[in-house]
Amino acid sequence: MRFHEDYSRICAFVSQRAVFANSVRPATLVISDGKIQEISYDTGEDVVRYLSQKYPGIPFNDCGSLVLMPGIIDSHVHVNEPGRTEWEGFHTATRAAAAGGVTTIADMPLNSIPPTTTLDNLKAKAREACAKIFVDVAFWGGVIPGNQHELRSLIDAGVVGFKCFLCPSGVDEFPHVSVDDVRETLSELLPTKTVLAFHAEYERNEKTNRLTGKPELYDTFLRARPDLMELDAVKLICDWCIKYNFRCHIVHLSSAECLTLVNDTKARGAPLTVETCYHYLTLAAEEIPAGSTEFKCCPPIRGKSNREQLWHGVKSGTIDMIVSDHSPCVPELKTRGNFLTAWGGISSLQFGLPLVWTAARMRNIPFSDVSKLLSSQPARLCGLEDRKGDLSVGMDADFVIWNPEESIKIEKGDIHHKNKLTPYEGKVLFGKVIATVLRGRFVFKEGKICDKPTGRLLLNANILQTIETR
Ligand SMILES: [Zn+2]
Repeated sequence: MRFHEDYSRICAFVSQRAVFANSVRPATLVISDGKIQEISYDTGEDVVRYLSQKYPGIPFNDCGSLVLMPGIIDSHVHVNEPGRTEWEGFHTATRAAAAGGVTTIADMPLNSIPPTTTLDNLKAKAREACAKIFVDVAFWGGVIPGNQHELRSLIDAGVVGFKCFLCPSGVDEFPHVSVDDVRETLSELLPTKTVLAFHAEYERNEKTNRLTGKPELYDTFLRARPDLMELDAVKLICDWCIKYNFRCHIVHLSSAECLTLVNDTKARGAPLTVETCYHYLTLAAEEIPAGSTEFKCCPPIRGKSNREQLWHGVKSGTIDMIVSDHSPCVPELKTRGNFLTAWGGISSLQFGLPLVWTAARMRNIPFSDVSKLLSSQPARLCGLEDRKGDLSVGMDADFVIWNPEESIKIEKGDIHHKNKLTPYEGKVLFGKVIATVLRGRFVFKEGKICDKPTGRLLLNANILQTIETR
């Protein structure tokens, strides 16, 4: 393995295991001005000679048998800056991303103050982010009651889509929408090509007496957020998706009881996509110790058999992608010992690849499918498929270079996100990220993050002109 330090305008990456949409094969990729310019499905001396003649002095980054894959695109990250920067900020979140092989994140509209529900709020957020980011950052807009008139201007600014809640979000400044609000929003968005993403939990009736039981037991919390809450929400979303024939996306699906409905809706041709998260695929309710509120998230992590059914949904294509839903907070809000009062959110942005790979390799899921789940499908969701998520000519040269046979142990000292609490601490996993490349340049290499943030805001030029300082 030999990586070059200098940033040439042109360079090449060579790997015996380059991951393409439908194959894994030896390949040499020529990078020019941050884009993939040329691909040879060969790594032999002839190719080196040919390329050295064509591009005199071209440096070759030889990855040997390390896997070269499109950079991971995490379309569900809560950065929380400005306003709750002590929970997470752009500097720390994007460093964690770089260390984890993630080259693009899409920031969720809530938990920052202000939330991304108006054009001015988006500008405020983008202004905070622009000089601090080590990977590319895209933004979701938010739909709350009464902000429908803001949505078109957010689309013009380049948000990847919109997110709304069908139940309380957990923060006062991002109220959930009613069924009528959704209908109004869909009518407003119908002429556009954007996507409406839903937090899919819905309560038909006022809460009954579910919050009984010992608050330190995970089961008490689990019973308070039953499968039915998800199923009721997913029914509404599927109906809207069919009726309006408008792109709808279900974020962080947890309950496998929804899979049949999702499958039927897709089979009818409705433009529905579904994501699940690392935690729903790798953790299980039965294994969550009493008082360990770092495992709390909404919807909740369910039982082992649910987890296996979710994997079945992943393998069959009912679930389109896997994301982090990285949602940290300050330690005080995790109120150790009390599952009912603790903040719901899990931090895992940096560890998606080893988490997914460790589970995927046991289930004989090949690299190409892992890459599809972690990169090309989230890119498509975010409308970035013309630039990101695939190793093909003309795409951004965003790569993760990793060793699937090497194991890592997750330890506090290696965590780059701001608040180190994570349910994965101490876990030993397969899949070590060796280097992360953003538009042809290393942003992470041999355990170190590059000095200078070189990430870009993935917004339209009209808004970038008004905020960029770099
Ligand atoms: Zn979330």
